[in-house]
Amino acid sequence: MVKYLKGSLHNHTTCSDGQASPEEAAKIYKSLGYDFIIYTDHDTNFPVEEYIKEPMEDFTYISGAEFGFRFKNHFNNNADVHLCGIGYVGDYIPPRESSFAYETISQIIREYYRLGAIPQVNHPNWGGSRRGYSFNYTELLNVNYPYLLEIVNYSDGGHNEGNEAFESVEYIWDVLLSNGKTVYGTMTDDTHIYFGKKPWIENSFSDIVDQWANDAREILRKGHTPGNGFVMVKVDTDNNLKDNILSSLRCGDFYASNGLYADFYEVRDKYIKIKVKPQNGENNRIIFKGRMGLPLKIVDGDEAVYEFTGSPDEQYIRVKAINGAGKCALFQPVFNDGRNKLLINK
Ligand SMILES: [Zn+2]
Ligand SMILES: [Zn+2]
Repeated sequence: MVKYLKGSLHNHTTCSDGQASPEEAAKIYKSLGYDFIIYTDHDTNFPVEEYIKEPMEDFTYISGAEFGFRFKNHFNNNADVHLCGIGYVGDYIPPRESSFAYETISQIIREYYRLGAIPQVNHPNWGGSRRGYSFNYTELLNVNYPYLLEIVNYSDGGHNEGNEAFESVEYIWDVLLSNGKTVYGTMTDDTHIYFGKKPWIENSFSDIVDQWANDAREILRKGHTPGNGFVMVKVDTDNNLKDNILSSLRCGDFYASNGLYADFYEVRDKYIKIKVKPQNGENNRIIFKGRMGLPLKIVDGDEAVYEFTGSPDEQYIRVKAINGAGKCALFQPVFNDGRNKLLINK
């Protein structure tokens, strides 16, 4: 039976700089309707069995880590590069500094693959006006491995949308895809802050401001809280969910979302068909994007079909669904140029 599982790909706990213990983090995510969590503490070996003594039923715990290094970017700033290894268990010690970011990114990706983990390149726009942004396609175009890329990282430093000087991460994704790279997009919480007055229960700022007058502004600005960005992963069984989740992530059988859900999504040889769940009376818009993010078709409504025409702009096609309340779902690119579709060390 095919179904989608809701999961959080990038989370910190007391094993590094997160507020909640691994068990508490899982309980909070389960209470928010999630089916699985990936633990990605900084520079940590985190075999799940060692940390989770009483696993909850109907919830999947997956090991992982976030490793990173520094390099001098185009602005001669110290820029941070972080990569999550999803499913990682091991004793890897990456370089702390690098002269050539793309080489070190490739080295970490190779190491993750060697250990059976799935690499995710995190928050390329990390930083801000003071330090400059960290890195972009300039470095990533030299990385010849497939990987996941955080299109949206809900933290204080993600700068996902870019600004007048820096492109959005979604644009960086399209540049990579247009250059033949196999990159699947994610949305993550990069959770560090779990406690306080549970800001994640209500998304509306005014609802929580009374309860949390002093901290709310600061913490909402900063993000890093549960329940903002997630993935919906397609599985076809109730058994061995951990392996099934990892294998679907590897195949691109998932979408990234901050609150918009698919009722139906089907890719066939000649078409892509999608139905998006209506929410709170908000209108949905479905956009089919091709090479360099070019909109190939825009449909206002809950359902749409895109029939392939064979145009060169269909080098890849990906679906983006948005609604009037700012909710968004990003589906993975369908490749029409015969490139590798799997996140494996090819
Ligand atoms: Zn990071
Ligand atoms: Zn992180």
